[in-house]
Amino acid sequence: MKVFKFGGASIKDADSFRNVASIIENFRGEQIVLIVSALGKTTNALEKITQAYFEGKENAGDLLNQLRDHHFNILKELFANQDDEIFDEVNNTFVEIDWILEEPAAEKYDYLYDQIVSIGEMVSTKMLAAFLNYKNVPVKWIDVRDCIATDNNYREGKVNWEITEQKISQKIPQLLNNQFVLTQGFLGGTSENFTTTLGREGSDYSASIFAYSLNAESVTIWKDVAGVLNADPRYFPDAVKIDHLSYHEAIEMTYYGATVIHPKTIKPLQNKDIPLYVKCFLDYKNEGTVITSECDVSKLPPVLVHKQNQILISITPKDFSFIAEDNLSHIFSVFSTAGVKISLMQNSAVSFSVCADLNEKIAPLIIALKNSYTTLVNENLDLLTIRHYTQDVIDKYAAGKNIFLEQKSRHTVQLVMKMN
Ligand code: ASP
Repeated sequence: MKVFKFGGASIKDADSFRNVASIIENFRGEQIVLIVSALGKTTNALEKITQAYFEGKENAGDLLNQLRDHHFNILKELFANQDDEIFDEVNNTFVEIDWILEEPAAEKYDYLYDQIVSIGEMVSTKMLAAFLNYKNVPVKWIDVRDCIATDNNYREGKVNWEITEQKISQKIPQLLNNQFVLTQGFLGGTSENFTTTLGREGSDYSASIFAYSLNAESVTIWKDVAGVLNADPRYFPDAVKIDHLSYHEAIEMTYYGATVIHPKTIKPLQNKDIPLYVKCFLDYKNEGTVITSECDVSKLPPVLVHKQNQILISITPKDFSFIAEDNLSHIFSVFSTAGVKISLMQNSAVSFSVCADLNEKIAPLIIALKNSYTTLVNENLDLLTIRHYTQDVIDKYAAGKNIFLEQKSRHTVQLVMKMN
């Protein structure tokens, strides 16, 4: 049994639906669970709708209508019969958002977010399942909220592995009889039957949860790139595909910010030694990348992870004390309370420097630090991480840049720099 995951880019329009159907058709007769994301940029659109609704703005309804129309336009292209029952089904699923929008927002933001944003996956999976069945590729649609059990930490649901494994292993294998099983990525359900989400881009993680629970033979993540590249081709045009990676290397890459796979995906697969393939849905016969327990590190090219919009904060105690364990533990507690994730840190005798993403959490963090520390802030920085670096590679990418901070270990160098 295998698990396939199709992300939003693979089902962004009618042609891409057809393409996904033609890939799946090739695996007829195999036992495959299909994990599917929302269409294209639907999750972003639903986030905007949630925000507008929460802030009491009038345009939430209009934004929803645009999104609904977009889905219907795709359905109209896919189904010859414009009375097919999928039209009603999609409509009835979107209606759940209409009902929420009818009342003023009385619940917490994160809870509302999950109830609204989850509709993207509910709709996309119904559409793809209906289309595959229409194309005579037998598929059983299931509701993932009956399979993945989480706590009620909305927007970042924590998986209850014991219950989840039990539900999936009891429910799924018997359904994989001459048909594929298709379900939603990104979603889970609480014990009170509320919907949760697993964090943005969480469908990869969903695939991994299913694979773990079913002791799957492999997971394949279908993407619009050739596989895992050693760098983001938008910034590094000479990026190359890596044929074989270890779980360890993949975890390191995602830890430093590579977005090719959701960071939580790898560990459950590693625990059961399940290979992860990253393949291109535009060229499905191509080998892609395989991630397994071992790889020959000497054959890896330098791996570059580039993060923009970084901030460097230098923190100095106001009472002239040195940076020591007591200060550090206090500083870490302030970061943890503010929910700011540290990308890199370094200390000197009297100051502690931290590089982090510049987002809405930084302003409250600085206010919280101000009582005990003076802070010096540099914005508009980039963080470049190079694994398996050579001096030539560092020189190439650091040339002409203003380097604010450099940190090296045996395998990894990190540069905080201004691009000029
Ligand atoms: N649709 C969700 C997102 O865009 C989950 C996913 O695609 O992985 O974040």
